Amino acid sequence: MPKKTPAEKRHKLQDATKPLDDFDRLARRRLGLPPPEKLVNPSRRRWLPPLLLLLLAACLIGYGFHRYRGRAAVLAYRRPLVVSFFDVGQGDSTLIQTPSGKNILLDTGPPSASARLFADLGRLGVNRLDMLITSHPDQDHYGNSLAVLRRLPTATVVDSGFVKGGLTQERLLAEVKRQNIPFVNVTRQHLAGTRQDLGDGVTLDYLAPMTTSPSANDNSIILKIALGRVGFLFMGDAEDGERASLLVGGGDPQAMVLKVAHHGSRNGTDDAFLARVHPEVAVISCGLGNRYGHPNQVTLDALRRAGVNVWRTDLQGTISVQTDGKTCKVSPPAK
Ligand SMILES: [Zn+2]
Repeated sequence: MPKKTPAEKRHKLQDATKPLDDFDRLARRRLGLPPPEKLVNPSRRRWLPPLLLLLLAACLIGYGFHRYRGRAAVLAYRRPLVVSFFDVGQGDSTLIQTPSGKNILLDTGPPSASARLFADLGRLGVNRLDMLITSHPDQDHYGNSLAVLRRLPTATVVDSGFVKGGLTQERLLAEVKRQNIPFVNVTRQHLAGTRQDLGDGVTLDYLAPMTTSPSANDNSIILKIALGRVGFLFMGDAEDGERASLLVGGGDPQAMVLKVAHHGSRNGTDDAFLARVHPEVAVISCGLGNRYGHPNQVTLDALRRAGVNVWRTDLQGTISVQTDGKTCKVSPPAK
């Protein structure tokens, strides 16, 4: 384990842990529809037949209104789960929008992509976040987190718990504390292997980290979000070590959509892993002509062998996947 810096010892936000119960309660309340409004107040007075007729008409209108409200509720429920993989250059930022309108932002991209990130969030009408999740404290993943917290009211921050030290992390944690935002530490709270109900049949499984690693990448939060038979597996920048522990862990990484680990690097994906996940769609988030050579040809070959359709933010820009829980639609469509 690396020696702790004074900065690491200083901040105590690691202990600022609060359960997700408050968020769940809020979310459930938000999903609840008010009872149908009582449009008529039936009168027992018999000496006004015309009034009875009027009341009957009102009842019919009320019944129709009730039916309409019920149908509206069903339509709302049937809105899709939408996952947008933002084009933030060499980095990661993904927005998950649930059928009832919850916004979950997983990573925020590098500071250089700030304008693009907020343009995408604005285009999608996002003016608050139910959760901000930082997969791990590297600039290309959490570089805009402080700006996000300052601009968008955020209900919960979920963090890997990896202490990297440095000004960016200190400022971010100080902002969390200043706003008194409920803070979830996936490692400290042993959340790997647990499931959170996001409502509308959408679930969030924390699959990793299961152990603490000295590497920020191998301590990435790995998540699976699912609706019906369609799952999305978000790998962060997990490398060989964390991927191996994921495969022997108790969680189920099978997913129709794979957000490829570590920008498609060579050490993020292999044949055994793809056989286990069995994805139909893979999304790689990386910058055009990046200096790391992402995505690596070895990884692209493995995806091709596994028969996976690959989308890339460096070639196709922001990529959106919509699902009703049975199938998924990717846009822009494959070229
Ligand atoms: Zn990265």
